[in-house]
Amino acid sequence: MFASHMILPDLRNQSIFDRLSPTLLSDLGLIHKGAAGRFSLLPLGTLIFERMKKIHRRNMLAAGAIEATFLSLAPADTWRESGRWDSFGPALIKTKLHGDQAACLNPTHEEAAVTIMRDWLTSYRDLPKNLFCIQKVYRDEPRPKSQLLRTHEFVMADSYSFHQDSSDADTCYQKMQDVFSTTFAAYGLPCQIIHADNGLIGGSRSVEFQLPHELGESRFVACSCGYAADVSVLRKEGICNECGEEIEAIKGIELGHIFHLETTYSAKMSLRVRGQNNKMQHPVMGCTGIGMTRSLQSIVMSHLKESGVAWPKAVAPFDVVIQSDSNEKSQMIGIEANLAAKGVSVLADDRDVSKAAQNALTDFTSPPIVLKQVGAHWDAVAKGNSVETGISAEAVLPYVDAILLAGQKSQQKQTFAERLEPFDGAAE
Ligand SMILES: [Zn+2]
Repeated sequence: MFASHMILPDLRNQSIFDRLSPTLLSDLGLIHKGAAGRFSLLPLGTLIFERMKKIHRRNMLAAGAIEATFLSLAPADTWRESGRWDSFGPALIKTKLHGDQAACLNPTHEEAAVTIMRDWLTSYRDLPKNLFCIQKVYRDEPRPKSQLLRTHEFVMADSYSFHQDSSDADTCYQKMQDVFSTTFAAYGLPCQIIHADNGLIGGSRSVEFQLPHELGESRFVACSCGYAADVSVLRKEGICNECGEEIEAIKGIELGHIFHLETTYSAKMSLRVRGQNNKMQHPVMGCTGIGMTRSLQSIVMSHLKESGVAWPKAVAPFDVVIQSDSNEKSQMIGIEANLAAKGVSVLADDRDVSKAAQNALTDFTSPPIVLKQVGAHWDAVAKGNSVETGISAEAVLPYVDAILLAGQKSQQKQTFAERLEPFDGAAE
């Protein structure tokens, strides 16, 4: 990829790096506002977002989940079966299709997942199953605000699991917490796991992943004894349920939620399988969700520095940025092509701009590896590593390979816990 092809922000304007600016992500060239609460992801935002999805997808697959893409325009009937056509409230976007068919835009996918499983599950032997997706959901939010934090449409990574009994659902509930912890560690987001309210989703219990932040709209408490809970879960305002100490509420951005649903949906929507005792039974369910677009904004706000974003290595938009110092750009073009062919995300700065402007772009994109042309040779700077000078054009590829592969070796590990390790290291 070449810098001249990209949509890039004006990096000479220091005011774009204001952490609490209501237009931070637009100013940085990551998103474009179409209307209040509705945004497009620009190419730079998309590069980062695709990395985020890849990390979470990999962690979910390692935990035995399987990926689907659900319908977005759901028939009203399935929502009537679950009882949420009325109970979900005004946030559910309802419409009528040709021939008077009532439909809604899915704000979450319990109904879609149960409907699929009704057609595919017949026996306890088919269990467990865990279906996940990473796609857009829709809510008629009355007061959209804070860029990607409260919007009409957003990308969610959600999963729906089906189990023979509660104890198997418990195992999955714990596994999903490990997956979320690993995903958020790779995003460089130090989330607090808290006991939460089940809200519109229902079920018996849930945990939230909250990122402490002043722009957050959730309020939670975290006690020095280790107990942390949603404010609404506290039995007595300001007092820890576990140890009785006084605690203060802090603001957080809710980035993830894991629910134990019991048989709330399988019973209402008549999902049954033949059990071990040959009787028909409702599978026990669990579900999870990560606000992916929200997480993108959280990454930017959490890693903003004076002149750029110190992207955690795993979600940096580019693995390699190439700076050329001569009018002779053929070496750079060749290296770009070779790296791109190997699947390395590379940005070659082919613009006719000053060294300072090239450095500003490199700083902004914060890549793990920077290659700089010095005469006929190349200098390489690997983040957190030494500078290597005088590399020939032919040796650049093996050098980049060695650095990137060194971070990927954990991919060959076998156990679930080991495979969950973010392949290119957690946040720095
Ligand atoms: Zn306590």
